[in-house]
Amino acid sequence: MKNRTMMQYFEWYLPENRLHWKRCSVQAEKLAKAGINMVWLPPAYKGAAGAASVGYDVYDTYDLGEFDQKGSVETKYGSKEAYLEAVESFQKCGISVLADIVLNHKMGADGTEQVKVIEERSTNRNEDISGIQQISAWTKFDFPARGEKYSGFHWNAAHFSGTDWDDAGKRNGIFRFEGKVWNRETDSENGNYDYLMGADLDTDNREVVEEVTNWGKWYLDTVHMDGFRLDAVKHISFDFYREWLKQMRQHTKTELFTVGEYWARETEKLTHYLEETEYSLSLFDVPLHFHFLAAATADGNYDMSKLFEDTLTGTDPEHAVTFVDNHDTQPGQALYSFIPAWFKPIAYALILLRKVGTPCVFYGDYYGIPHDGVAPVQGLKTLLKIRECYAHGEEQLYFDDASLVGFTRTGDAEHENSGLAVLCTDSASGKKRMYLGAAFAGKKMVDAMGGIGSPVVIGADGWGEFSVNGGSVSVWVTEEAGEMLYITLE
Ligand code: CA
Repeated sequence: MKNRTMMQYFEWYLPENRLHWKRCSVQAEKLAKAGINMVWLPPAYKGAAGAASVGYDVYDTYDLGEFDQKGSVETKYGSKEAYLEAVESFQKCGISVLADIVLNHKMGADGTEQVKVIEERSTNRNEDISGIQQISAWTKFDFPARGEKYSGFHWNAAHFSGTDWDDAGKRNGIFRFEGKVWNRETDSENGNYDYLMGADLDTDNREVVEEVTNWGKWYLDTVHMDGFRLDAVKHISFDFYREWLKQMRQHTKTELFTVGEYWARETEKLTHYLEETEYSLSLFDVPLHFHFLAAATADGNYDMSKLFEDTLTGTDPEHAVTFVDNHDTQPGQALYSFIPAWFKPIAYALILLRKVGTPCVFYGDYYGIPHDGVAPVQGLKTLLKIRECYAHGEEQLYFDDASLVGFTRTGDAEHENSGLAVLCTDSASGKKRMYLGAAFAGKKMVDAMGGIGSPVVIGADGWGEFSVNGGSVSVWVTEEAGEMLYITLE
C-alpha cells in the first residue's frame, strides 16, 4: 500500500505570467520523485479578472483559456492546451489530478438586469431590512466570445438567488431576489450562509442543476481529471454536491476522490456535512489547522496532548484531509491564519508521518512565497521522502504530556527499513521512551531532521529513549534509512 500524498499546486501570488501550466508539465516528474502522488490544481476557468484572476471569481466555466474573454484568451495559468498537457504530464508520472470546482457563485457578468429584491441584514440573512425594491444586478452571462460552443446556456437573474451590488444605486448590500429563498441547509453563520459573493447560484433551480451537471461531465470528458476539490461547500445546499458527485461518478465509473472546503473550526459542522452528503467526499481538517495555529502562538503553553482532540482527524480520519496552510490562510489573504515558521516542521511531521488522514502539502510551504519573503519549510522534502518510504505499519501514540508528544510507526515488510519514531515539543527539550517493536531490538536510529546528533540504540525489549531539542521535532529512522535519505535528497 502506497501512502497517498497530496499537494496544493499553487499559492495566491503566483506570477501572472501564464506559465503555471507549463511549469506543472516540467515539474511533474520531480514531484513524483519527491513523493507526491496527487495534486490539486487551481480553478482553470476564466475569472472576472481575466489573466489576473486566481480563479475563484468564476466567469465562464467552459473557458479553460480558449476564448478571448475578460481581456485575454489565456488565464493567469496559461492556455487550455497547456492545461490539458499539464494534467497529462502529472498522470504519466503517477500523480492524480484534482480539479478545483467553484459552483457557488459567478462574477463579471456581461450585463445587468432590473431585479426585484429584498435586502437582508448582513449579519442575519434571515432578517429582511427592506420591502420589495428594484435594483440593477449583474446577472446576465452570455459569453459573447464563446457563443454557444460547448453549451448554449445563458444565465440570467432567474438562475441566481441573490447578489451584493446594486449598480443603479451604486451600493452594497445582501440582496435576496424576490421569490427566492436561501438554500435551506447551509452553514448557520450569519443566520444562513448561502450567500458568499457575486451572483449566487440558485441550486434549487432545475435548469441550474442540469447545466452544472452537464458542465461537470463535459469537464471530465475534456480534461480527464481524477477527482475534485470543491470550493465553499458550506455556502451551497448540502444535498447539492451529494447528487452532483453521484452523477459524475456514474459518468466516469471511477472513484473521483473528492475533498471539500468547509471552512469551520467546529468539528461537528464537518461531521454533520459528511453525514448529509452520505460520506461521498472528504473534508479539509480546518479544526486541526487552528490547533496548529494555537499551539504555534501560545509561547510554549499549548497543551500538545490535545492537538488531535476534537479535530476531523481525531473523529473521522477516513474523511480527513490534513493540511498546514493554503492559499486563503497565507499572508494577505481572506482567511489569514498562517502557521509561524518555527512550528511548521512539527505540523508537517504530524500530518505526513501519522497513519491517519490524507495530508496536503501547500505549494507556498514547499517552494516558499517570494511575494511575502516566506522561505520554504525546513525539512519538508525530507519529511515527504520519509512519508513515502518509511512511514508505514502500525501507529503507537504518546500524546501523554502537555509539551512533549510523539508517536512511532512499526514499519512493514513491504517497505525496506520502514518504521520510525517522532518526538516534538512546543516547549523545552526533553526525552521520551517509546516502543518500536521487538524487530528493532539492537537497531541504531538516527534523527533525520538533524537536530540530535547522536543515535539511539533500541533495547532488546523494543523500546528506545528518544530526545528532541526545544521547540522542534526529531524524526528517528533506522541508520540505513538515514543513509538512503542522505544520498537521495538534494
Ligand atoms: Ca450559495
